[in-house]
Amino acid sequence: MNAIEKLKKKYRWIYHFQSALNLIEWDFETHMPRKAFEKRAEAIGTISTFVFQYLTSDELGGLINQAEKEARTDEDRAIVYFAKKDYEKQKRIPPKLLRKFSEETAKAQAIWQEAKEKSDFSIFSDQLEKVVEIVIEIAEKVGYEKNRYDALLDFYEPGMTTEKLKGIISPLRKFLVEAVDKISSVEKPEDIFKKYKFDMQKQKELSKKVLEIMGYDFGAGRVDVSAHPFTTTISHNDVRVTTRYDVHDLKNSFYSTVHEGGHALYEQGIPEEYRGLPIGDGASMAIHESQSRFWENIVARSLPFWKFFKSIIEEYFEVFKRHSAEEVWRASNIVERSLIRTEADEVTYNLHIMLRFDLEEALINRKIKVKDLPGLWNEKMKEYIGVIPPNDREGVLQDVHWAHGTFGYFPSYMLGNLYSAQIYYAMLKDLDFEKEIEIGNFDRILSWLREKVHKKARTREPDELIKEISGEELSEKYFIRYVREKYSDLFSVSLL
Ligand SMILES: [Zn+2]
Repeated sequence: MNAIEKLKKKYRWIYHFQSALNLIEWDFETHMPRKAFEKRAEAIGTISTFVFQYLTSDELGGLINQAEKEARTDEDRAIVYFAKKDYEKQKRIPPKLLRKFSEETAKAQAIWQEAKEKSDFSIFSDQLEKVVEIVIEIAEKVGYEKNRYDALLDFYEPGMTTEKLKGIISPLRKFLVEAVDKISSVEKPEDIFKKYKFDMQKQKELSKKVLEIMGYDFGAGRVDVSAHPFTTTISHNDVRVTTRYDVHDLKNSFYSTVHEGGHALYEQGIPEEYRGLPIGDGASMAIHESQSRFWENIVARSLPFWKFFKSIIEEYFEVFKRHSAEEVWRASNIVERSLIRTEADEVTYNLHIMLRFDLEEALINRKIKVKDLPGLWNEKMKEYIGVIPPNDREGVLQDVHWAHGTFGYFPSYMLGNLYSAQIYYAMLKDLDFEKEIEIGNFDRILSWLREKVHKKARTREPDELIKEISGEELSEKYFIRYVREKYSDLFSVSLL
């Protein structure tokens, strides 16, 4: 066996442990009895430490070096490239520091929970400061060229820098703030999705139906309920999604399902022979998010979608017969100056991210202090979105990410939105998107995504992938164009 084959075999071996970990983590979030919490957390800790130790072992390092000399095909070269990159990055973080990170973030999550319940940031402040200091230490160990925050961004969106991000954000923010102003000046449509009571069982059936229509393979997946919807890949042919149901809010559950369905289609489209290897994942967090956002917003919040889907949703909820497809379409695209990121519409969503990016970047570079976060948060909310949170729970304490220590992650959500729009305009050159949707033919859309995005998995860096798809680097202009075209139509406002 040559070194490449040996390397692949080792990765596939360690992937079995990863699979086990993914399965018990999925169970942790869905079916596990409440009292099992502590012991399960210990088991997760043990297995993840084992996986991490192997991924940073000298044995694996040696194999990667040998394989590098033998890589001849593009695929093998990509395997070695990403193997080496991941290995070296992980090696730079001392195990002791990583352990400290796990311990302090575990504590931080419990404290954050309490602080959020009591809506009091001061309870969380000291622990968050500890987490920030550890994250700064990690960034220093990992290294960066210009800005310490770049080291963190690179974990989630390889190649992205603070400078590039600021270049994207500046015109986008200006456009979005003005767009929200203009859209807010017209009358808000009636929210059909919140107007009636929607039976839970029927919602479950509807979730399955929409996933089926999108092309999700139920022979290789399943849907369950969890507090926070997510998608996880246990192994090849086992890609699971979760969602949540609220009888008073059909929009939330329906679009959560479609969103996770988009992630799941990406995972189901990753070639079997790549699974377990460093190339067997999505290209980046943001590319992954582009797939979920594409289905959620660009497909399922379009007028052709509702022209097609209205007669289907009527089979589950007759009340939809009282409304036209246009009315449902408008209701699915209500723009609001809202407090909570996860419930934000696609026009205000990126503004929520920009606020978090500003604060994170300043924290990591020690330009601001943790204790000043609530005040700064509220100032930025007023400036960007035009509302001030009445309390910490609906303000600075709403997201768990900082307690997790995942600084640098938030921008992926915004970049996902931008990628999805850029991918959409590339797709328009190849197929009649509106017509396909209106007749309920999602096959060609899915095949296109399979070909251009899914099958390529992580065989290249995200910047390379988007250039191949669209002929250009990532740009904010496509998202701006998308919002302009869609919302001018929706609300008869001029968004120039
Ligand atoms: Zn997502």
